Amino acid sequence: MALIVSGIGVSRGIAIGNVHLLNRGSAPEVFERKLEEHEVASEVERFQGAVAEATNQLRGIRDTIPEDAPKDVASFIDSHILMVKDSMLRKVPIEIIQEQLCNAEWALKQQLDKVVSVFEQMEDAYLRTRINDVEHVINLIQQILKDQQFTVQMKSQPLKGSIIVADDLTPADTVVMQNQNIAGFITEQGGPLSHTAILARSLGIPAVVGIQRARSLLQQEEKIIIDGADGMVLAGIDENTIKKYRQKQREQKDARRKLNSLRNISAKTRDGQRISLQANIELAEDVNALKLSGADGVGLYRTEFLYIDRDVPADEAEQYSAYRKVVRTLKGKPLTIRTLDLGAEKEFDPDYQGPLTQNPALGLRAIRRSLKDTELFIQQLRAILRASAFGPVRILLPMITSYIELVQSLSLLDQAKRELKSEGYDYDPDILVGAMIEVPAAALSATIFAKQLDFFSIGTNDLIQYTLAIDRIDDQVNYLYDPLHPAVLKLIHLTLQAGRKAKIPVAMCGEMAGDPRYTRLLLGMGLREFSAHPSNLLEIKQIINRSKISELESPTKKILSTTVPAKIHPMVDALNE
Ligand code: PEP
Ligand code: MG
Repeated sequence: MALIVSGIGVSRGIAIGNVHLLNRGSAPEVFERKLEEHEVASEVERFQGAVAEATNQLRGIRDTIPEDAPKDVASFIDSHILMVKDSMLRKVPIEIIQEQLCNAEWALKQQLDKVVSVFEQMEDAYLRTRINDVEHVINLIQQILKDQQFTVQMKSQPLKGSIIVADDLTPADTVVMQNQNIAGFITEQGGPLSHTAILARSLGIPAVVGIQRARSLLQQEEKIIIDGADGMVLAGIDENTIKKYRQKQREQKDARRKLNSLRNISAKTRDGQRISLQANIELAEDVNALKLSGADGVGLYRTEFLYIDRDVPADEAEQYSAYRKVVRTLKGKPLTIRTLDLGAEKEFDPDYQGPLTQNPALGLRAIRRSLKDTELFIQQLRAILRASAFGPVRILLPMITSYIELVQSLSLLDQAKRELKSEGYDYDPDILVGAMIEVPAAALSATIFAKQLDFFSIGTNDLIQYTLAIDRIDDQVNYLYDPLHPAVLKLIHLTLQAGRKAKIPVAMCGEMAGDPRYTRLLLGMGLREFSAHPSNLLEIKQIINRSKISELESPTKKILSTTVPAKIHPMVDALNE
């Protein structure tokens, strides 16, 4: 009899294969053993040996990652290698062994409990999911100590074409499984933000997570189907169902092939309007993925990652070298570098106590933070300016709300230019400067802002958050997050009109620009520059190349004059038909 189980689909694609049940035993049982004084030295040695072995294993896995794999594949394994090297895992357990005269496993367990309780208190959902990484790394060392090495054992199993069903999987497991050509995986634990889920997306492995008791519901070797788009798992299937899904699988592959054939074709509507399609990147290395998406440049380089997830923020020299690397790789295509958007969910100093920590999204964030710490800001502006000597670079200011912030930012930019000039550095003296329009006040002031700026970029992620008063990372109010809310559409429209009047380009770099459901509406509203995650660009290009702006304008006008949100959704659906 057919059994349908649903979980969280974290990586698209259909997989059909036989179940391979795995018990990672992610939390091995640990007992305390008291040591005699004379046993301490050899216990410390045993622990150090396990740490060294964990590093070796992770490095070995890292070496199997092909050069052309997406950047995050290697960086997740690297982050685990870094964790093993961190004194919280390398040194503190030794101190516990020596002070408490206990075995290495017990010392490690105590350290894990301590770290987990720190992570559990974090407000940010993404950071909380990093507990998994600490657990994965500590459990790897525990397993080595107990000589139960799951990842090593997995390497010797024939997994080709199987669907792995496990309690949990680490990023390292995922890389090992990918090398063995698995068809897909299901886990009982994990969520969409876990590194294993992100990795599955990067590696193109269909995956469903969060199916509790999956290992008791599914039988070893039984044939199942998983649909990673909607998180569905089908068991007890007949030949007809398999046939149907094989057909669906073929259609998806065909659609992907068709999209890939658009890589070297520019985005142009059927009535001849050229549309600029640019990429959002977060790390200098992400620029390598641009070739696969045929992007016209980088519309948003989020520079926060030069500051967060590391001990010391990047200095001018390191930033300059990262920016220059991207400019050079782009070979003349434009690069838009957004100045630091620190604060709220993007904080690099966990001890930082801003004046409004109760409500950080409304606090000292983005440009407000940069204007408060002008030394940090000037350092970044200098690095950007120096990189502009190597190709077209634009500066994008985040979260501009008031005119005075623009004036102050531009004056600090002048100061950075003067400094560089007197020090004999090259830079583009006419570097273009734009502002993110991501606060309702900015959209309403766009006409005034346009007088000081060369371009706008609409950040719908924050514009929606601030317009609809919903915290973008609070799951409880997710249901209110609506890009088609009439107020949001009105603010986008106002910004586009202001740009047109002032004859400055308006781009959009929030998630809405990368969502194919909104492409035709945005075209109809007058958007001509889209910037999105590289993986979305080909789909957006396909829609653009099939659209005629003249056919979109009048239905778009009707949508914009509709004030009842419930009516807008079907109207946008109709526009997409
Ligand atoms: C936005 O707010 O839409 C945006 C692109 O910026 P971020 O998501 O980095 O805040
Ligand atoms: Mg934003």
